[in-house]
Amino acid sequence: MHSRLPEVGTSIFAVMSKMALDHHAINLSQGFPDFAIDDAIIDQVYRFMKDGNNQYAPMSGVPALRNSIAEVLKKTFGFAADAETNITITAGATEGLFAAISAVVGAGDEVIVFDPAYDSYNPAIRLNGGVPVHINLRYPDYTIDWDEVKRKISPRTKLIMINTPHNPCGVVLSHNDLVMLERIVLEHNLYVLSDEVYERLIYDGERHQSVLRFPGLANHSIAVFSFGKTFHATGWKAGYVVASEKITREIRKTHQFIVFSVNTPVQCALAEYLKTPQHYESLGQFYQQKRDYFLNGIKGSSFEPLACRGSYFQLLSYKNVSAKGDVAMAEYLTKEFKVASIPISVFYQDKSDHQILRFCFAKKEETLARACEILSKF
Ligand code: PMP
Ligand code: GLN
Repeated sequence: MHSRLPEVGTSIFAVMSKMALDHHAINLSQGFPDFAIDDAIIDQVYRFMKDGNNQYAPMSGVPALRNSIAEVLKKTFGFAADAETNITITAGATEGLFAAISAVVGAGDEVIVFDPAYDSYNPAIRLNGGVPVHINLRYPDYTIDWDEVKRKISPRTKLIMINTPHNPCGVVLSHNDLVMLERIVLEHNLYVLSDEVYERLIYDGERHQSVLRFPGLANHSIAVFSFGKTFHATGWKAGYVVASEKITREIRKTHQFIVFSVNTPVQCALAEYLKTPQHYESLGQFYQQKRDYFLNGIKGSSFEPLACRGSYFQLLSYKNVSAKGDVAMAEYLTKEFKVASIPISVFYQDKSDHQILRFCFAKKEETLARACEILSKF
């Protein structure tokens, strides 16, 4: 049978979560919280369902939600979005990323991707006829080498994809990075696809550098967000995409034929919930505590933490523990020690293996405590 993605198997997130389940392991692999979401938003969903909001939402999203998002964007980034023409509600960031790529990438267009990269980027580019050009982040601090970016730009380059805060590395881009990016994008007339799903999961007083804070860059950018991360509800698959009117028009052409529209009562509830800034403003503090709890719990073990400034992922180097490759090590820890993680070599096109595993700390303290107890034996 013909395959458009012949070498692609099952996503590492599905593989490791299944392995965790099969082996009764603590699942710190796939990124999702194991604690309850706020009852207030559940009550809202229920109320909107009871009130009859159970049919198709408008294709581009419930207007009240787009208006609430416009308010948040103004307040957070000083970005004036027109709810009607700049914001599209998508089935999670994953669909938003795909629709965004389809909007700007044509056959043979090159797209710069930084590795390690979230696993949907490369297939989404190729399914849209594009050619991914992978550049490794500098190991071990996972920064972007902007000179290398300049060298990799060709007449076919169309798009640069960035992700800050970064999954899986937990690094964040600096103001200076965005200034460099803006310069390159304007000089070569490129687009930027900015994956900002962890915008509020940022620590140690760092400030999230959204492309929407930079007017020149914003004009050339598509920014992608996810309510799954911000409101601990990854299973709701609700997110949104912010772009210029021209790009938004193209994004919606694809969006309408992938899902048409997104879950109506959830959108209505989110519209209300977003009106209270306390519902999202302290998220950074909340997760910073979890990061520190996890780090404290593994202190004294032979696992070595790398810096985590954002996202809900902590990288641990196990160089002092084992000589295994990271895929084998993740499997070994899951099956023999009952803690599941994600090997990060799978996020590299060249499969670079630095013997590092990713652990999700979006978990109850008792879950983290149990995992730390096991990891501390090493
Ligand atoms: N981008 C990144 C970097 C992510 O980590 C995730 C979720 N794990 C997504 C996109 C997809 O988000 P969603 O679940 O809203 O589709
Ligand atoms: N974003 C989540 C992670 O990085 C997983 C999302 C998914 O399973 N597709 O773990």
